[in-house]
Amino acid sequence: MTGSKNYIQFISFENKLEGNEELAYRYIYGPITSRRLGVSLGVTTVPHKVCSFNCIYCEVGKTTLLTTERKEYIPAEAILEELKDFLSKNTTKIDHITFSGLGEPTLHIRLGYIIKEIKKMTNISIAVLSNGSLITRDDVKMDLLNADIVKFTLNATDQETYEKISLNHPDIKVQDVISGIVEFRKMFTHELWIEILLVKGINNTIQNYLNLYNALSMIKPDKIHINTVIRAPAYKVEPLSFAELLEASRIINHGSKIIYKKGTTRVAPQTEISTSSLNSNI
Ligand code: SF4
Repeated sequence: MTGSKNYIQFISFENKLEGNEELAYRYIYGPITSRRLGVSLGVTTVPHKVCSFNCIYCEVGKTTLLTTERKEYIPAEAILEELKDFLSKNTTKIDHITFSGLGEPTLHIRLGYIIKEIKKMTNISIAVLSNGSLITRDDVKMDLLNADIVKFTLNATDQETYEKISLNHPDIKVQDVISGIVEFRKMFTHELWIEILLVKGINNTIQNYLNLYNALSMIKPDKIHINTVIRAPAYKVEPLSFAELLEASRIINHGSKIIYKKGTTRVAPQTEISTSSLNSNI
């Protein structure tokens, strides 16, 4: 932070409700239809692009504040006020309230409080889509315990590849992140998902797939999503073809049967090939 008043940018999300009523919110967006989460109402807990990563494939743009500092970037009560207002007027069925948005949601130091307060307002399922970088911290683990779904991104297990794709804050060490996820898995009784995003020439090697297989054997997630770049990324990067994604999924999910279509039966852990975009990271 530099003291400049403009270092943080907020954007307003335009949300159309039934009956053509149109409202502008600053911290919630949608609802949008998501392949993984159905009808999802997005929530951002940080301004545009406050993140511990600066992923080369990020479709929200380049990171403007690369940080691991947890603080109340947006007043928790303001987020809750918007949600309360939206839920009181909305008549659309919402499957999930999803923390994602414009940066890394776990950077908000009152995330646990916000989740608990939402639980008092509604019984809609709460999902948190995180890059996983702060799960080394006990306070972050505690904050996420009340979510219904937590999805972490894990694109590589060696520091060099991890940094190439994440352009992460230098304090973040991937082996610590993996250990943190394994510990969290033991505490967390709800759905834990892992997303692996593959970028051509960066993390699409057989060795990386084998490393990920080993890490996933320890983590034991409920679902594994394999994804690639689709929409305008922050940097010039190339996606994998569908055939390449299939090859990756066979190795990452070594020894397991895989399905490619949602809803088909298979053995756990489930690997789904998703070529849908990370629209607002949902
Ligand atoms: S993809 Fe997510 S974790 Fe990566 S830079 Fe964008 S907002 Fe941050």
